[in-house]
Amino acid sequence: MSKTEILYLNGEWMPIGEGRVSAEDRGFNFGDGVYEVMRAYGGEPFTLTEHLERQERSAAGLGIRIPLSVPQFSDVVRELLSRSGIPEALIYTQVTRGAAPRQHIYADDLKPTVMAFVRPTPVQPKAWRTEGAKAIPEPDIRWELCNLKTISLLPNILAKNRAHRAGAAEALFHMPDGTVTEGSSSNAYAIRGGELWTAPLGPRILPGITRMQILQIAQEIGIRVHEEALSLREFEAADEIIMSATNLELLPITRLDENAIGAGKPGPVYRRLHEAYRARVRERCGVAELVPL
Ligand code: PMP
Repeated sequence: MSKTEILYLNGEWMPIGEGRVSAEDRGFNFGDGVYEVMRAYGGEPFTLTEHLERQERSAAGLGIRIPLSVPQFSDVVRELLSRSGIPEALIYTQVTRGAAPRQHIYADDLKPTVMAFVRPTPVQPKAWRTEGAKAIPEPDIRWELCNLKTISLLPNILAKNRAHRAGAAEALFHMPDGTVTEGSSSNAYAIRGGELWTAPLGPRILPGITRMQILQIAQEIGIRVHEEALSLREFEAADEIIMSATNLELLPITRLDENAIGAGKPGPVYRRLHEAYRARVRERCGVAELVPL
């Protein structure tokens, strides 16, 4: 078994390739489940409790009762990190409603399928930091429970793949009225006149854990925050666009389609926020020096 490929599945530990779930698991049949992606630095998970509490809220929103408490799930994540020995890691957790003969209606007493695994954090293209990344606008065709982190991700996956084929790092979702919601797997921010705008919490966006950190940091370092939706046109005319997610941290977007954003290079607000974000990671994870992005 590779040290990097350990799976926790329903209370057991095994090589990831040996994990088996029922062909009638409702996660497999219906996308009926929730997930989280967390990140560890120097072997220490960052904002672990925040992620596991969001997982609880997502599951509660679907009426799924996670059989592990947040402290018990934290122990699983820490055990995975220690068994895998991967210090720079992404931790994936997933809980589905469980297996039952396939039909839409579910019984209340199903046994949820719980799994988690750890992988090394993928390396990101260096140019994303030096030159910035491209995003493409995409119609937001998702549902009205985007605040729940469910494994039903088809619209996100289609949008992200269109972005990838267009040489872009992300897709920027917008509603029929033009307002920007978030990215296909990230939150989105526009910087205008040194101030930060991002969509308000609600059913149209995921309450990103990184978003929460960024808004706190912005306030700490004196950047005014507006939790107000802006239009795609306003994003295009912004001085800077930033996207954020656990895996990305903060990502400067310097092109939207083929149009340059602001000066067309990573901006000063991005740099200040990202530096302060990394300082927070170092402090919270007790790591003197982070592995460079
Ligand atoms: N929005 C969506 C749709 C996402 O999938 C993600 C990534 N999980 C985010 C935002 C960012 O969330 P977080 O900062 O908690 O990773």
